[in-house]
Amino acid sequence: MEVIVSEYAGFCSGAKRAVDCVENALKDTRKVVTLGEIIHNTQVVDDLKLRGVNIIYSLTDLSEKLNYMFKEVTVVTRSHGITESIESDLKNNRIRYIDATCPFVKKTHTIVQYKVKHRDFLLVLGTKMHPEVEGISSRFKNKCFVFRNLQELEEIYNSNQELFDTKKGALVAQTTYLIEEWQKIVEYIEKKFENIAIFDTICKVTDERQKSTEEIAKKADFMVVVGSHQSSNTLKLVEICNKHTTTLLVGSWEDLQKIDNLTQFNVIGITAGSSTPIEEVRRVQNYLISLSKNNI
Ligand code: SF4
Repeated sequence: MEVIVSEYAGFCSGAKRAVDCVENALKDTRKVVTLGEIIHNTQVVDDLKLRGVNIIYSLTDLSEKLNYMFKEVTVVTRSHGITESIESDLKNNRIRYIDATCPFVKKTHTIVQYKVKHRDFLLVLGTKMHPEVEGISSRFKNKCFVFRNLQELEEIYNSNQELFDTKKGALVAQTTYLIEEWQKIVEYIEKKFENIAIFDTICKVTDERQKSTEEIAKKADFMVVVGSHQSSNTLKLVEICNKHTTTLLVGSWEDLQKIDNLTQFNVIGITAGSSTPIEEVRRVQNYLISLSKNNI
């Protein structure tokens, strides 16, 4: 059995930066909380909890659930970014915070806040309610539409024809969105509209990871995706792999122990979401290699 690992598996720069921000905050004497789970990875989050890092989901949790005073904490935000109103609340309440928003997400914020702010509508290719999409939408003051695919965009167009045909718009995407879907949307918009400015905000790391995953999935008769069910970029990798071969999403190597007959496969590919530490990927790889050796 051959085991192939994507060269892009392991933390992306944004996830690494977010975890480093928490590590740096821990060097201070203040209590450290993260606004949501710092990354979608149970082992990392559990380890930080053991070291005293609490998770809050809103600023009121600080006083109501944790009994913390604003002045004694450092809040670390996630790489997905935060909404404009949360940012204002942090500032207005003089809460010390470390902004771990990934620079790629920040770039989208800048486009929305400065480059396209006078446009009449914004189209965001992404998942509604995803924190990154909420952060992007919150920074645009005119009409904003979030959609997941071409069908949803057409539905939006059918209900807002006058706006689309007479006003100026802009298009951005959630950084980790499926490249293939983005390309379809760009093609559609370029053909149909001259008044919509297009900004490619898909992060390069996502692009490379998706491409490398697809290459491996084409060769493999079984793919293992290491990551979390809550991680949007991980689920996109599962979607890509499923097009080519049988695919399993696992949180850790231990999940593989429940699967029989893995040695029936000739080529197993491994890829991982951007919040999965490389150590976990190696554990999955080593487990599969050990199965293969024991089977000789
Ligand atoms: S996937 Fe890209 S945009 Fe998202 S955190 Fe990682 S580097 Fe940043």
